[in-house]
Amino acid sequence: VPAEEPIARRYAAVVTVGSEIVEGLRLDTNTREIAFALSSRGYHVRETVSVGDDIDVLGDLFEALLASCEVVVATGGLGPTHDDITREAASRALRLPLEERAELLDRLERLARRHRTASARDNVMRQAQILRGATVLEPTSGTAPGQVARAHGTAALVLLPGPPHEMRPMLEQALALLPATGRAPARQLSCAGITESDAQLLVQPILENHHGVGLTLLATPGLVSVVLLDDGAGPDAVHAATLACAAVLGPACYSTQGETLAEVVVRTATQKGIALATAESCTGGLVAAALTSVPGSSAVYLGGVTSYADSAKRGLLGVSDDTLESAGAVSAKTAEEMAGGVRVRLGANLSVAVTGIAGPSGGTADKPVGLVWFAVSSGAGTRSERRNLFGDRDGVRARATVTALDLLRREIERA
Ligand code: ATP
Repeated sequence: VPAEEPIARRYAAVVTVGSEIVEGLRLDTNTREIAFALSSRGYHVRETVSVGDDIDVLGDLFEALLASCEVVVATGGLGPTHDDITREAASRALRLPLEERAELLDRLERLARRHRTASARDNVMRQAQILRGATVLEPTSGTAPGQVARAHGTAALVLLPGPPHEMRPMLEQALALLPATGRAPARQLSCAGITESDAQLLVQPILENHHGVGLTLLATPGLVSVVLLDDGAGPDAVHAATLACAAVLGPACYSTQGETLAEVVVRTATQKGIALATAESCTGGLVAAALTSVPGSSAVYLGGVTSYADSAKRGLLGVSDDTLESAGAVSAKTAEEMAGGVRVRLGANLSVAVTGIAGPSGGTADKPVGLVWFAVSSGAGTRSERRNLFGDRDGVRARATVTALDLLRREIERA
């Protein structure tokens, strides 16, 4: 392909550097964030690689990846310790010298003075070493600056520090410096209350009429994300496909803007002035935790009760002895009385209750592990729903939490 031809696809790669990662001492979360940031901007991420603190291996890897990618983003190994070898490896791969940047010296000298030994001070000062011609990414926290260096042609090597809170703001700065891909960012349709295969069946025919729009489905317990990718169709076509998919997914689709289910519940309840309360048994407060994790939830979430034992369901929520004895703790009636009880006691407009068998023990033939009863209560009445949820204890609890939030969301939408 002649160099002046437009690049049909902009390829990218992500490299994480650190023996702590390849030896299993730390979990690599940066790859996911960087790869998603790149693919959201229309890059085609070809490879993600983790390597230890080995200058030769890393240098060769940079060279190989830059031969086929427009952008290589690396994190880790930029700090002040002896095993921080990313700068040197990049210097070898690009055949560019490292040069001390005057604008970085002041701040680093102040930091270096805190160290007692000369070698520690030298190590701090090594962070002023920048590849010739590279753009410096100033740290907003931490000490190590990032760098964006030019490789061959328009290809770029981006070096970012390892700690995620240092990496994130610099990643944004670096991406703003890279040439536009001309492709639309990936669009995500977040769905609840639908299976992955049903979501696929609904959107597949739509995409047959939108050539150049790619599809990926991502599932987490209880949730499905339909992801539309620009495979050449362009931003307008991706936007049109997003609207068409949202229409066909209907109420199952709770966000096309990347909001979480709890965020949608809090936002819509706030807009409509609906005060919420929760009553939980098998989820042990996970629904309350999800709601309170959203900033601003205090405007609508009054509180909840974790009523695990029968005595707590009775004493804190007013579930009747008769209900607990005749129907049992995992039943439609108990769920309804829990929801009604918490709504009235806390003075909420809308409440949700969850009671079920998370396992691994406690299941019976008519009440197996995974059986969960939900109830939603408002001034207009209380209704319950039964679900047989799949998974181990954590899986059932996670799915039950999502289901409870989704019932709230749909009820708020109808209000
Ligand atoms: P600094 O030394 O200035 O903190 P650095 O670039 O040298 O930055 P590393 O020494 O490689 O960073 O890693 C520091 C810490 O950052 C690691 O111990 C780990 O907790 C975290 N970290 C590094 N890489 C990753 C990654 N890929 N995903 C998540 N966390 C990471």
